[in-house]
Amino acid sequence: MAESMKGLKRTHRCTEVSSANIGEVVTVMGWVQKQRNKGGIIFVDLRDRSGLLQIIFEESDIKAEGLEKASKLRSEFVIAVVGHVEKRSGAVNENLATGDIEIRATELRILSEAETPPFPIEADSKTKEELRLKYRYLDLRRPDLQSKMILRSKIAAKIRSFLTEEGFLEMETPILQKSTPEGARDYLVPSRVHPGSFYALPQSPQLFKQLLMCSGYDRYFQIAKCFRDEDLRADRQPEFTQVDMELSFVDVEDVIEVNERLIQYVCKEAIGLEVSLPLPRISWKEAMDRFGSDKPDTRFGMELQDVSETVKGCGFSVFTSALENGGSVRGINAKGQSAMPRKKIDALVEFAKGYGAKGLAYLAVQEDGSYKSSFAKFMTEEELKALVEAVKGEPGDLLLFAADKNKIVYNVLGALRIEIASQIGLIDENKFNFLWVTEFPLLEWDEEENRYTAMHHPFTMPMDEDLELLDTDPGKVRAKAYDIVLNGTELGGGSVRIFQSDVQEKMFEVLGFSKEQAYDRFGFLLNAFKYGVPPHAGLAYGLDRLAMLLVKADSIREVIAFPKVKDASCLMTNAPDIVDDKQLEELGIAIAAKEE
Ligand code: ASP
Repeated sequence: MAESMKGLKRTHRCTEVSSANIGEVVTVMGWVQKQRNKGGIIFVDLRDRSGLLQIIFEESDIKAEGLEKASKLRSEFVIAVVGHVEKRSGAVNENLATGDIEIRATELRILSEAETPPFPIEADSKTKEELRLKYRYLDLRRPDLQSKMILRSKIAAKIRSFLTEEGFLEMETPILQKSTPEGARDYLVPSRVHPGSFYALPQSPQLFKQLLMCSGYDRYFQIAKCFRDEDLRADRQPEFTQVDMELSFVDVEDVIEVNERLIQYVCKEAIGLEVSLPLPRISWKEAMDRFGSDKPDTRFGMELQDVSETVKGCGFSVFTSALENGGSVRGINAKGQSAMPRKKIDALVEFAKGYGAKGLAYLAVQEDGSYKSSFAKFMTEEELKALVEAVKGEPGDLLLFAADKNKIVYNVLGALRIEIASQIGLIDENKFNFLWVTEFPLLEWDEEENRYTAMHHPFTMPMDEDLELLDTDPGKVRAKAYDIVLNGTELGGGSVRIFQSDVQEKMFEVLGFSKEQAYDRFGFLLNAFKYGVPPHAGLAYGLDRLAMLLVKADSIREVIAFPKVKDASCLMTNAPDIVDDKQLEELGIAIAAKEE
């Protein structure tokens, strides 16, 4: 039978007790990690979220009944213990914060018993993630997961305190919104009161935060849950948390300035990391040209080289036809990898195909200066020599080339660069390389829809010097948009917003929206702009990703208390689930086809 806490009050968490408390009486509560009965003396490791504390039960202190009770303790029982703090009688345990003390128990209460858990509650679990997620409440007891959750909480707290100090107001925006499809797929919520109508869950608080600027709040932030119904990849969750902000009367520089200080503050306060400012910055074009990615990992080199000029007119038709079709030929140099076995190179070719390449041309410069290559036979000695020089190839190097449309070439080499670097251990895991990527293209051509779509979102301001191109050559317009990247992961992004109705209308026109369509979807924003709107800009971070990188977790699921798995389901609660016919009826919803 479970006992109550009546008359007891916890005085310390486990590791809050230290040698400074020797001689005092303390009351601690938590879970039994382990119980060892050494014939008349019972040792218990007590665990709470702070760590472990050793308790000793001996008849001389706790009497026979107490000892009898202690002998029944099993792992994960929840107990309360009153006892004296003493210097540890046995050897000091250097691995424990409380390794030099122990509690000599005078009272024990069993607050709750526990069945044997389906896996041991310990750090570095070898248990399959699937089972751990099914019993997430137990998984969350494990010390390594607890320390990550605690650090995440600390990161959020530091963000809050910094932004509040800087004059940002924390404001909430609705979760039940109007669907404004542009970007990812919305999660829809049927309305009972308005049969046939739906709310959408927010993909971001974008429009509302802009409205708050119209309303004069000046600096807003929110730690906001957002939802996107996308096919999940390893680092995605259907619901995720953004640190979202918006500022009035600012331009790009102002947003970057305050955010650099935010990053510096949070890194220092949360994980003791010194970040020196200003953070490096490169334009989107430079990022693509040098790294083949708009979120480059700059912890290592292996940069892309454009060899289009060098191979122009060479005998290898894969190269020349890519150029004739308006594409490019680019290469990377995997230094010292010329001896990579054929099998591994073949695997890289397959990898490249996964990123849209038709193939991958390779050339290994042997130690004796000769070449082993998939295409050397199509080129002359001089052409090969020029090509090798163009990517600074030396004996011992493995050179890899992609020839295609620019987009594919960037994609392939950008991914290959990371793949090879991680295979050969080029990445220094202790580095934290922050980077701003700026001057993104405003628009992206959507082949399927045969129209432009907004690269960031339709409210992003063109760069002043490109404004006129919006009429003449929209594809060339650069935006006042910026991303913050850490170690090859996009941490966040934002933009300066369009605040002039005529520019916004033109933007909608370029995106192929009629005025009616634009007003139908975003009328409330466009109307608001008619009543006095300050220039404004903002940014949003993915808090989950930020936490994942700062705590050095392998997956985003390790910093989310109750994550979903790849198919967007929750293994613990079995969400999503079917609902009662009555519920559907009330909503006026009929399921078209039930899957067997
Ligand atoms: N709402 C944007 C996003 O979710 C961020 C921003 O522009 O502030 O990416």
